[in-house]
Amino acid sequence: MIIKEHIERVKDEVYKCVHCGFCLTACPTYLVSGLETESPRGRISLMKATIEDQIVPDQNTFLHWDRCIQCRACEPACPSGVNYGLLIESTKEGINVVRSKSRLYKFIFKIILKLAISNRFINFNSYIFRICKKVNLSNIFNKLKISRLLPNFIKTLESMIPNVYGKPLKFGSYLTSNSIKKEKLGFFRGCIMPGIHGENMRSSVNLLNLLGYDVIIPESQVCCGSLNSHNGDMATTIELAKLNIDLFLKADYKYLIISAAGCGTRIKEYSQLFEEGSEYWDKSIQLKNKTYDIHQFLFENIETPPKGFINKNVGYQPACHLLNTQKIDEPPIELIKMIPGINFVPIPSSNICCGAGGAYSVTQPKWSKMVLNKKINEIKDSQLDIITVSNPGCFIQLQGGSEMLKLKTEVMYVTDLLYNSYIKGVD
Ligand code: SF4
Ligand code: SF4
Repeated sequence: MIIKEHIERVKDEVYKCVHCGFCLTACPTYLVSGLETESPRGRISLMKATIEDQIVPDQNTFLHWDRCIQCRACEPACPSGVNYGLLIESTKEGINVVRSKSRLYKFIFKIILKLAISNRFINFNSYIFRICKKVNLSNIFNKLKISRLLPNFIKTLESMIPNVYGKPLKFGSYLTSNSIKKEKLGFFRGCIMPGIHGENMRSSVNLLNLLGYDVIIPESQVCCGSLNSHNGDMATTIELAKLNIDLFLKADYKYLIISAAGCGTRIKEYSQLFEEGSEYWDKSIQLKNKTYDIHQFLFENIETPPKGFINKNVGYQPACHLLNTQKIDEPPIELIKMIPGINFVPIPSSNICCGAGGAYSVTQPKWSKMVLNKKINEIKDSQLDIITVSNPGCFIQLQGGSEMLKLKTEVMYVTDLLYNSYIKGVD
């Protein structure tokens, strides 16, 4: 009954679906399984059957909803304009309430999500990840001949340990030495990216400094809440949203710049968390209007293109939360094409998700791998030197895939490639 109540709240969206099936070929889980139940149309049908009392959803039904990556590629493909993101978020919230009745689940889920958004924990973990990578845990397990004895989930987690780049990005002011000072920009640090990809985030800040902007990364900012909302924990999402809204509206930043696509979408969609016309709904619209994805901001503001040659075959895998929700398609590609020497090679099905999906690779490792395999084989066939990305989840996922197939293709952020060209151009 609880799930029914949550789906009923968004029933207008459920009934917008006319079951035409145009969304099927945009859906990564349908493409790898061919199953209707793993498609947007199938998942919506299960929601409809729930509110019409044709089914009482059980653990098996939950599985089909849980296997959705929330990439939202079904939204731009839908001629009826179904807001699928709203549907799955509300459904997952209902599932979360049901599951929370199990004390053990509630305890584990709360701890994991609290840790996942803790800056200190992420920074600490980045050092642990660095050590694990250095000592090569798989090798140690193999040498000790205990690999076969380990439970599968330990092996899965071990294979997911990401590479760590540079020291964590610190809070503070990053002032430009450029004498033509423009406005001050706020910068959203997020939770996972500054810990493991600190060096890459610094490239983004450096690029903004190069353009003549002072960049401020305020310490009181918190995680955007997307990991929580993906998993149905809307109460924490709202708590985090209010803190960020108040902080970034109060400060005198001209714009808030975001370098991770997932955080960008969550922040731009904060208004969906509040009742229309309420105080925070109003404030979240104001914040949305001053929020910029870094690729879009650079594309609109770069006056002098970089001069350093990078003679490589380069592809681009868009983050779903940049392409499908923020509708930012061309700016990252145009930034890549600005770099002298680059041969831009479009990859087939670049509009299809890589299987990263926030915590999806941890919660649904088997499905995440199935989706990744398809993607990584396309990248292999494209014979790229570099595949560029715009989100930490995609970076980790594609790098894991590239290592798995022992590809020579390097995974890089668009912003890193661009910054490298600026640096080379100065030499
Ligand atoms: S494209 Fe839209 S209307 Fe058609 S089946 Fe998919 S969600 Fe429903
Ligand atoms: S959000 Fe992505 S995975 Fe989920 S139904 Fe839509 S296209 Fe499929």
